[in-house]
Amino acid sequence: MQKGINAIWKSLIWGESVSLAVLDTTALVNEAIERHKLTPVAAAALGRTMTATAYLCSWLKEGTGALSVTVDGGGPCGKVFAVGDGNLYLRGFVQEPAADLPPRADGKLDVGGLVGKKGTLTVIRDDGDGIPFAGTCALVSGEIAEDFSAYFLTSEQRPTAIALGVKMGTDGKCLAAGGLFLQPLPGADDLILSRTEEEIAKYRNISTQIEEMGAEKLLLQVENSPYEKREIFYRCHCSRERAAAAVLSLGREDAMKLIAERGEICVHCDYCNTDHRFGEEDTKKIFAEKA
Ligand SMILES: [Zn+2]
Repeated sequence: MQKGINAIWKSLIWGESVSLAVLDTTALVNEAIERHKLTPVAAAALGRTMTATAYLCSWLKEGTGALSVTVDGGGPCGKVFAVGDGNLYLRGFVQEPAADLPPRADGKLDVGGLVGKKGTLTVIRDDGDGIPFAGTCALVSGEIAEDFSAYFLTSEQRPTAIALGVKMGTDGKCLAAGGLFLQPLPGADDLILSRTEEEIAKYRNISTQIEEMGAEKLLLQVENSPYEKREIFYRCHCSRERAAAAVLSLGREDAMKLIAERGEICVHCDYCNTDHRFGEEDTKKIFAEKA
């Protein structure tokens, strides 16, 4: 299913005062487009959100940590959802995948218009210790990068300079997607903060830069430091077993009523756009196994 590159490169730069991350999420966005039949501008909204979510996930504990992101801006695409974990397994969807808007005057996709900016960005994070952290901030522009910057500053007290981009081809596929993050370590002085702002201004066309140069070279161009690379995956946690548990939770009477009415029970997963279908025999078996 995966085509192209999906990975995050991370290093410590400027005398180990700033964490630098560059992500290539081209394949992730193409899989989202394939699964959800997204318009180009909806693909950009979801792609930017999933890229930022992948970055957040890179700080989680492998194996146990998980988090979810909701961007609720009141725009035509409805809410944008992205979920991921410490293994960098990501998934996401928008409420209205067919929502569309004409490009902005500068020719760029109107992500801010599609997402809207009258609302909030919410992150719910659980590092595996069972104590979830929830942070919410008001949206700045609905363009996603600025909104995540505001989130990092107000909810995590970590000023973070962010560039995000999704470049779409005329065939509706993503040519390149990704992001660049500069996050000073705690205790960094104002000089470092303003340097991250100066640096991030060079990446206004981050998707084109990733397309032309590649994420790894982009990272090394900022500073040639040792780095770590991790792969990112589009992977859903749903399964036929989990869907069967949902059927079971209906109770035998209601489940059999649905079967009588529709001939089957369909459990839909929004994150991977998959229908888990159970016919009469399947449903009887689910309740027989329980008995
Ligand atoms: Zn699923």
